[in-house]
Amino acid sequence: MSAPGDDRSDRAGGRDEHGLPWLATPLRRTLETQQAHALLIQGPGGVGQFELALTLAEGWLCEATDRPLVDRPCGRCASCKLHAAHSHPDLLVLVPEALRESLGWDLGGNEGEEAGEGAKRKPSKEIRVEAVRAAIAFATTTSARGRGKVVIVHPAERMNDIAANAFLKTLEEPAGDARFLLCSAAPDSLLPTIRSRCQQVVLSVPPAADAEAWLAREGIAQPGVLLAASGGQPQHALDLAERGIDAAAWLALPRRIAAGDATALQGWSLVASVDALQKICHDAAALACGGAPRYFPKERVVSEANLDALLRWSRELTRVAAEAEHPWSADLAIESLVGQGQEALKTPRSRDRPREGLSLNSTG
Ligand SMILES: [Zn+2]
Repeated sequence: MSAPGDDRSDRAGGRDEHGLPWLATPLRRTLETQQAHALLIQGPGGVGQFELALTLAEGWLCEATDRPLVDRPCGRCASCKLHAAHSHPDLLVLVPEALRESLGWDLGGNEGEEAGEGAKRKPSKEIRVEAVRAAIAFATTTSARGRGKVVIVHPAERMNDIAANAFLKTLEEPAGDARFLLCSAAPDSLLPTIRSRCQQVVLSVPPAADAEAWLAREGIAQPGVLLAASGGQPQHALDLAERGIDAAAWLALPRRIAAGDATALQGWSLVASVDALQKICHDAAALACGGAPRYFPKERVVSEANLDALLRWSRELTRVAAEAEHPWSADLAIESLVGQGQEALKTPRSRDRPREGLSLNSTG
């Protein structure tokens, strides 16, 4: 048994909030103030909601009970080791099949979803009602290691209506000693009755300096460029880098789109392409209105773009974004959107060069 105070050295090894240093404060605050049996971790995506949920679960299940709760998880006890191996019997993580790999949670086995013959179908982007029912059954059984049970739902808005209603019943009439951690970047799309049953934990975008330092440690060159490209959401910046988009490629994008060069988006999904085009459109519109760009440095943004055409482009991008999950031809859609972007990003001078001379098409 270690005496209180002589275990400072293992603290850093045990608690790294899954490598995201800006989670240390929200983690401590939540451990200090958490009272409800259900928490809703909300805020922008890409800032570590899932990692905070995992670390909270690890802390609640940690067996180093000689420490105050705010100093858990210890990272060393049997429970913490099971957690690290993704095999803790009292933790169930509910994520859509399509997200498991990217979240590093693709071991399968305890999600309550059918395997085997289902392996050939496209991975679901939803959290299915079968999985929710299995989670409810899991939550009502006795804790294997005696420190309660934890169910993580990420992202909670991916539960369809049937799944959400099944889940709501459990939140209203909790059975057993289970606690629930819901994560959402779109809390408004959750059932209001689910939101009202949860204690809210709000995460925000971390300070840019912290995020850039973290990205640099992850091996990202010019981290500030990709961080701005991602609206300050560091995990999304890392996703960009992992998709092979570096700072130079990002910085070149507005001019290439203005030149109608759809190959700039070769290999990008429709969703990613629309997202990038929306950012180019946003910054061009901001600059045209005398505002500041957000996703690109000012000198990279096409200035003096045509505001009316930008608005039309923006509306079309919004429309396609809403339908981007449809299995239509991504290449054709991207080409058409880039064509509209080229038109919108033309400066008035290059569009109507003869304007200063004779007026054209005068019908008078
Ligand atoms: Zn522990």
